Amino acid sequence: MSVTIGVVGSINLDLVASGAPLPKAGETVTGARFAQHPGGKGANQALAARRLGAEVKMAGCVGDDALAESALKLLRQDGVDLQAVMSEIGSSTGVALIAVSDTGENQITVASGANARVSAGDAASLPPCDTLLCQLEVPVSAIEAVAKRITATGERLVLNLAPAIPVPDFVLQNASVLIVNEIEAEFYGDALHQGSALVVETLGRGGVVAYKNGTEIARVPAFEVEAVDTTGAGDTFCGALSVALAEAQSIEKALQFASAAAALAVTRPGAQPSLPWRAQVEALLQSQMD
Ligand code: ADP
Repeated sequence: MSVTIGVVGSINLDLVASGAPLPKAGETVTGARFAQHPGGKGANQALAARRLGAEVKMAGCVGDDALAESALKLLRQDGVDLQAVMSEIGSSTGVALIAVSDTGENQITVASGANARVSAGDAASLPPCDTLLCQLEVPVSAIEAVAKRITATGERLVLNLAPAIPVPDFVLQNASVLIVNEIEAEFYGDALHQGSALVVETLGRGGVVAYKNGTEIARVPAFEVEAVDTTGAGDTFCGALSVALAEAQSIEKALQFASAAAALAVTRPGAQPSLPWRAQVEALLQSQMD
């Protein structure tokens, strides 16, 4: 039977103009190519968990505009339950305006739009799940509501502390798992280790290390792959780790599973289109054992 993961998080549409030089303030540049991709950390992680075999229910907000359906397209296509995604009258769907130069440098402006309207009520509207998976691209009040909810329900909270912003101590202490990258680990420092959470720090190509009560308990190297685009590696990792831990895999095995999923994501361009399926992750894990 598959595990159930509830995601309370952001839903964006990434609008990407690539191939032209980056404009300076006040300048207009022409000659770019345009593409749009569904994004947002919440949506990316929900889709990652879904493709890896979980039943996924998402709570979040989109605007009442034409961008909303594009932002939700892959979630809908792959069968993420969107009953708790609200269409906010008078709001715009969250967008990231991304300019990428030929040399790969980028400029990103995010307009969070309806994501800023995600509330404690949205967090409460999710039916019972094995695990609740959250990030910090929605108001902290919604994440606080999740951290309170789980004390009554016994659900597991996996919290990806990205982007790094201040959160109340009780949120960190109620979480079962905290996932940070190196920058976020530095931002939160010792506060990560005050509760009993499993703290997982991702180190990019350096792999991943896990701590319990401030002591290192596991370390897994990154899979060696040809990196094409690391966008979405962190989100893939979070979705995959949530699935593996909900399936009661050991910490070591769960870290390997999530690292394999993230490695596959970096071999393909984009975030959501690059998210791997379960069979692909299992094939990579198997190939390492052969
Ligand atoms: P974020 O994108 O949140 O900063 P990281 O860069 O730490 O996160 O990457 C998350 C995980 O993705 C890493 O722990 C690793 O398992 C995997 N990963 C990232 N970059 C690579 C890479 N170049 N090759 C293989 N795996 C990678």
